[in-house]
Amino acid sequence: SNSKRVINFAAGPAKLPAGVLEAAQKELLDHAGTGVSVMELSHRGADFTKILHNAERDLRDLLSIPSNYKILFLQGGGNGQFASIPMNLMGLRDAHSADYIVTGCWSAKAASEAEKYGKVNYVLPKLHKYTEIPHPSTWNLNPNASYVHYCCNETIHGTEFHYIPETNGIPLVCDMSSNFLSRPFDITKYGLVYAGAQKNLGCAGVTLVIVREDLIGFANPLCPTTMDYRTQVNSNSMYNTPPCYSIYIMGLVLEWIKKNGGAKAMEDRNNLKILSVYETIDNSDGFYVAPVKEEFRSRMNIPLRIGGMEGNDSLEKKFLDQAHQMGMIQLKGHRSVGGLRISLYNAIELDEVEYLVQFMKDFQQANQK
Ligand code: PLP
Repeated sequence: SNSKRVINFAAGPAKLPAGVLEAAQKELLDHAGTGVSVMELSHRGADFTKILHNAERDLRDLLSIPSNYKILFLQGGGNGQFASIPMNLMGLRDAHSADYIVTGCWSAKAASEAEKYGKVNYVLPKLHKYTEIPHPSTWNLNPNASYVHYCCNETIHGTEFHYIPETNGIPLVCDMSSNFLSRPFDITKYGLVYAGAQKNLGCAGVTLVIVREDLIGFANPLCPTTMDYRTQVNSNSMYNTPPCYSIYIMGLVLEWIKKNGGAKAMEDRNNLKILSVYETIDNSDGFYVAPVKEEFRSRMNIPLRIGGMEGNDSLEKKFLDQAHQMGMIQLKGHRSVGGLRISLYNAIELDEVEYLVQFMKDFQQANQK
């Protein structure tokens, strides 16, 4: 099935399952006998309402989300939530302060945005390098915080939390943009979870927010009406026109995950994929170097250097060029860290990983001194 398409290892917007794109293509001009595209449906009509309801139902099924958690399909991306979260939740307690666990660029950005709306307590001293996650025994949590924010998977640096932080009853808020539904998780441990869709959940344009209902209704008076969670909960994510087509694509992705065994099956498959890549790296005698300490390695994004810790620019360029010739694209690392980055979201197939791994081994053979 890859004979015509390239293998897209992008960090986001990322690869979508071929079946999802084919389904969307098939009904592009005529959705379910309506005679029009999903893009042309009224967001308040029965046909779109069904799309929205089915997406919510599938999400609740996939993660066993209880009814006291509200599901919102919003706009503005992860960055929009960096602002919406403090605007909605700082006021949960009189001190108007929040704890931020900064383990990479994205959680750092979330924290600096939050400073506009209240007091931000940095739980960790500023890290020299984002290649590990300091042990919770060293964290400086504030017992009067309105909430604790962290990013579960730092997309650029490739560190991932493999446990849920303990916050002694203070609402835990999590940016799951780059690992949502890559494995099951217990939503009841969280106050709020959010994720932009463009990595594991669909295409850009819709941002998923799952929020516990007792946290709703505390918005800053200056919070824009459309960004107030209460407004959106009361209007079923339709206070303003929702990103209808992106919600539709997310619905197709959720159906695809269900058909393929659900969140646990995604986890098992992702573990196989990651094992095969890390084995190749770890058995390369230092030809390939993954800078992240083993216990914090992300299963979704693998930053990588070739030819030592600092990387060898010309070898890395050669690797990217040859990979491109062989149909593998978007393997370049983020400009802030350099090197390479392999992203292995749900839609990447096992045989695609095997193809990459074989190329890595061949490349090493041909280029190792
Ligand atoms: N959070 C994480 C973990 C991300 O990887 C990204 C984007 O790559 C964002 C937030 C920002 O998302 P957006 O571009 O949708 O604002």
